[in-house]
Amino acid sequence: LSTMQDDVPLTISRILRHGMTVHGDARITTWTGEAEPHRTTFRATGERAAQLAHALRDELGIGAEDRVATLMWNNSSHVEAYFAIPSMGAVLHTLNLRLPAEQLVFIVNHAADRVILVNGTLLPLLAPLLPRLQTVEHVVVVGPGDTSVLEGCTPQVHEYEQLLAGRPTSYDWPELDERAAAAMCYTSGTTGDPKGVVYSHRSVYLHSMQVNMAESMGLTTADTTLPVVPMFHVNAWGLPHAVFMTGVSMLMPDRFLHPGPLAEMIAAERPTHAAAVPVIWQGLLEELAATPRDISSLKTVTIGGSACPPSMMRAFEDLHGVRVCHAWGMTETSPLGSLAHPPGGLTPEEEWPYRITQGRFPAGVEARLAAPGGGFAPWDGASPGELEVRGPWIAAAYFGGVGEEPLRPEEKFSPDGWLRTGDVGVISPDGYLTLTDRAKDVIKSGGEWISSVELENALMAHEAVAEAAVVAVTDEKWGERPLAGVVFKEGHDPVPYEELRTFLGKTIARWQLPERWVTLDVVPKTSVGKFDKKVLRRQYAAGELD
Ligand code: ADP
Repeated sequence: LSTMQDDVPLTISRILRHGMTVHGDARITTWTGEAEPHRTTFRATGERAAQLAHALRDELGIGAEDRVATLMWNNSSHVEAYFAIPSMGAVLHTLNLRLPAEQLVFIVNHAADRVILVNGTLLPLLAPLLPRLQTVEHVVVVGPGDTSVLEGCTPQVHEYEQLLAGRPTSYDWPELDERAAAAMCYTSGTTGDPKGVVYSHRSVYLHSMQVNMAESMGLTTADTTLPVVPMFHVNAWGLPHAVFMTGVSMLMPDRFLHPGPLAEMIAAERPTHAAAVPVIWQGLLEELAATPRDISSLKTVTIGGSACPPSMMRAFEDLHGVRVCHAWGMTETSPLGSLAHPPGGLTPEEEWPYRITQGRFPAGVEARLAAPGGGFAPWDGASPGELEVRGPWIAAAYFGGVGEEPLRPEEKFSPDGWLRTGDVGVISPDGYLTLTDRAKDVIKSGGEWISSVELENALMAHEAVAEAAVVAVTDEKWGERPLAGVVFKEGHDPVPYEELRTFLGKTIARWQLPERWVTLDVVPKTSVGKFDKKVLRRQYAAGELD
């Protein structure tokens, strides 16, 4: 054994203690939609986290391992919950407020949440579900909202500020096993029932250190980050924890996630970094084209969650001087799996081929490609396979339910314990991952694979196209062929499909070009803003598109 202090557990309370002392003056600013945003510091947030922990323990009877859920936007109160709940030994369960009602009910019952902290503005969403939430004893209302919708409900209702008032501003955080559950998040269930991933203190701690590496998000005390990615979507990609390690200030958008208010808050509060999924950035680009605003404070934005069209990366850089860093990850990977930083010593033009990939794996993520015919594909940049990963912040199983064994479905975990990501791609000899599809979205045409993502990216590079989604449809001769769904930009006349085909033909092999086309008003999206190809396939099969 080593001679080091290996018995110091990597816990979230340590991150909290560090952030509220060493970086006590770092700021959390929450957009309110009013003249003044809400402003607080890491120190005050930590003190309120202690008050919340006292309230949860002494008033609501929350103990070790109990699940406390949040149905909240990105704001400073949510950060209080982020630190209080795991640090006291309970488990933070972030609820995705965009999930269909059925799935929300399912996951609250499955996790057996005892308390829900809910933003007042989300009460209309929660109230109708309450009669079906079997384990919830307390509802804590955070911030203003119409509480009359809770009248007659079974759980006890509390007001957050009243609950915290007068309680001690420090808490003797217990020394926990670093492998204990800290937080849980259900996948958005694009395939079947949502599945619960339970993060440990250790996985959160190590992942936070990764977020802070220079070849990751690499922010410093000089930065302010704008996590547009919701705190209910894989812990806002780890940013709230990571910034408490490094003293990076945060600008929180609360419920103001439309392009207009986002542009406004960037211009007013001048963040240097932001993180969000591609659809948000697409919206922001269009907003800025219509109503210019000063977003020059933004130096980098991290984009991930679905493939970022290279044309969008170019547009941000050329029009606004913002450098986009493309990243890949999933709920099961905490989420950082890879980030597209180019190697050093290249010219900006030479960097592009690297930057449009899904990026390189950090040291904490081991990767391999399961080849279609068995065995593993070489890292030659050409041989495709299903990506499998392993590492200290990668899930080994799903939550099976209270008192149940964890679930290790064989389509998600290999016999030797690697996570099967369901993503198909190639890896270059120097470790850059390029995803070509999700395993279920690959178009299998006459024994060859066509990448739907490649077609989409090529289409979105056309000046008239706002969005494009390509799905496989059954074809008598070829088995499957691509169907291209196109959303034209506002103010642009639709372009004949033949012209789009010719345009694609410049970069895509002829046999891969779609012969079936439809025009869409919008591409259907999932609860977290990804293209919902399932819906598109269904609409096409039902003859609803033309
Ligand atoms: P769900 O799997 O339920 O949609 P996740 O948020 O966990 O929810 O999604 C993870 C998936 O999102 C990945 O497996 C991958 O398919 C996709 N994804 C994430 N980032 C990227 C990216 N940069 N490029 C392409 N696909 C991505």
